[in-house]
Order: sequence, then C-alpha cells, then structure tokens
Amino acid sequence: MTRAYNFSPGPATIPEAVLQQAADEMLDWRGTGMSVMEMSHRGADYAPVIEEAQADLRKLLGLPTDYAVLFMQGGALAENAIVPLNMLRGKPVADYVDTGTWSLKSIAEASRYAQVNVIASSKGDGYASVPKQGEWRPTKDAAYVHICGNETIGGVEYHWTPDVAALYDGLGGEVPPLVSDMSSHILSRPVDVSRYGLIYGGAQKNVSMAGLTFVIVRRDLLGRAHPLCPTAFDYQVVADNDSMFNTPPTYAIYLAGLVFKWLLARPAATGRPDLSPLAVMESLNVEKAALLYEALDASTFYETRVAVEDRSRMNVTFRLHDDALTMPFVVAAAAAGMKGLKGHRVVGGIRASIYNAMPRAGVEALIAFMREFERTHG
Ligand SMILES: *Cc1c(COP(=O)(O)O)cnc(C)c1O
Repeated sequence: MTRAYNFSPGPATIPEAVLQQAADEMLDWRGTGMSVMEMSHRGADYAPVIEEAQADLRKLLGLPTDYAVLFMQGGALAENAIVPLNMLRGKPVADYVDTGTWSLKSIAEASRYAQVNVIASSKGDGYASVPKQGEWRPTKDAAYVHICGNETIGGVEYHWTPDVAALYDGLGGEVPPLVSDMSSHILSRPVDVSRYGLIYGGAQKNVSMAGLTFVIVRRDLLGRAHPLCPTAFDYQVVADNDSMFNTPPTYAIYLAGLVFKWLLARPAATGRPDLSPLAVMESLNVEKAALLYEALDASTFYETRVAVEDRSRMNVTFRLHDDALTMPFVVAAAAAGMKGLKGHRVVGGIRASIYNAMPRAGVEALIAFMREFERTHG
C-alpha cells in the first residue's frame, strides 16, 4: 500500500494513525460485535463516543463552561442560513466582512434573512488580504459581525482577532458578538474562544470526514431563534438535546473523536510535553507554511499574490507564471503521489492545503517536486 500526499482542500487528508484505528475497529468496536456505524445513537455503546468527542474538543479549545458545543449537519453553507436564523434575535441588521469566495457566499445567504451591511471588503485588491480593522465601518445595533477566519479558496487568513468592543463601543449601541466561519483553520492553532460569540464550520477540512458540522456558541445567545427556524437547526434545541434532537452523523463524530485524541497526544508524541496540543500544531503548521512560502518567494517561476501578513497557513495558493503549465504541473504532481493540488475553479492556479494531518515530509516532497518541475520546464 502506498498512501498519496493529499493536498485536497476538503474532504481532506486525515491522520494515517486515525484511519488505521478506524480500520482496526471497523467490524467490532471494543468487543461490542458491531461497527460504530451500526449502533443506535441513543444506545449505551454509542454514548461514550459522542460524550468523549465533546469533552475532548472542549479540552483542546480550553472552552469556558458558558459555551456549548453542538454537532450538527448541513455544512458551513447551511450555517450561512442557520446563523442569521439564530443570531439576529429580532434585530434587522447584521455586519459582514468580505474577504473572498466564502464570505461572499455567507453574505448572499444571510441577505435572505437580514439587512446585511458589508462593513469592509478586500475586493479592491483581488482578495489578496484581510481588511485592516481601522478600515471597518461598523453599524450601530448590528445583531452580530461575521468574518471568515480562513478563506480556503483565496488562501487568506486572519492572524489577529477583531476587537469588536473597540469597533462598536463608540457607536452607542450594544457590542455585537463576533461570528467566525472557521471551517478550514479550527484546531490549527490556539484560539481565545472568549473573543467570539459563535464559531462554526464543516468538519471535513481539519476535524473529520464530511457530514459533520461543528458549532461553538456562547450560551447567552441561545433561545431567540427566528420563529421560522427549522427546529432541528435551532441552536437552543440542539444544545438542550446534547446534539441528539435527531440522529447525528454518528460515524463522523466517532472519527472526529479519534482525531481529537490524536491531537491530544501530539505534545508527547512530538517531544514537546510542555506545550498545549494546539500550540504544538501551531508551531508545526507555521514551520510547514514557512517552508512552502519561502520556496515560492525564492522563485520567479511561481508566484503567490497574497499579502505576506495575511497568508494562510492552511491553504497556500499560487500560480505558475506560464499558466499553460498549470495542468501539466497538477498531472505530474499527481503521478508523483501528490494529489489535490489544482486550484479552485473560481480562481485557478495551484492550491496546496496543508492541514494538521499533512506531515512536514509531504510539504518537503512538494517543494522538491516544484524545484524539479521548474528545472525541467523553466
Ligand atoms: C469548505 C468551506 C465551506 C463550505 O463548507 P460545506 O461543508 O461544503 O458547506 C464554507 N466555508 C469555508 C471557509 C470552507 O472552507
């Protein structure tokens, strides 16, 4: 068996040790004689699976008790509707920051439920940056302010947390909660959750397989969903039922739980027991991204347009100067065991997604391939 290095943006690479454990347990989970897939979500066998997954996610993020963890379905795109349905709380306006494809999708969907004010946008520079906080034009009495923490397609990431209190204090209204789509960088670094009212995302990038949506929400924001919000998408109902209002994506939660345990074991496994698991992941992710960006910056054959201070650690986007070589690059890379490098159809070029589960050796193999491709095609 040869495993490829999978640079796909999502569904994405999963730690090999996790896949191996899932394979080992596939037919008989802990002596039950059943696969996790076959278990009743309300049975005694499954209970520890979801309970441990929730507890481990809380541990990883250092979640304060006033935050609920919800396991839902529908992905980040469904959340684009579910968020306003839960978070408007009777207010008419929501503020959104536009940093590219995924924020534009959030804005379009929220506009069906709210008056959306786009309070900052990096459209002017072709979405190669995050608008500086000083350029944001907040709305008094906005119900919430929404950002996309990492633009998976453009390769632009917030390396700072917006200071919502400073932004809205002077306006005379309430300070709105900060909402972030963290689909593609949750668990890649420590995050001060107390700065956010709501964090959500699809699990298939950095957490698990497809089918699971994670929602982390401050409890005082619950209980005021729009009357037309589907019951299964009312955060209060989901929280009251421990994410079991209806059948949850049981196997995806199980797999997320294995990934959480893998993350919790990283400090010991990497010889850095003094660091928290997410601090370990951050330092590994910083190293991997730096290697790749250094290789890009050192070359005139490849170019990356993203502003240096806003470059994503998770999704590294670049182009070949001669665009005619893009497809040959992707094909040759795949033949060399590096899959999923084709850029999103909206923006073209190349994208290397280097999530937590991408080993440093994968990034080094990609860089070696890039140098060889440049040598033979430059
Ligand atoms: C992948 C992604 C989405 C879409 O997620 P789905 O689970 O397909 O709905 C939305 N936002 C971001 C930032 C993403 O990376």
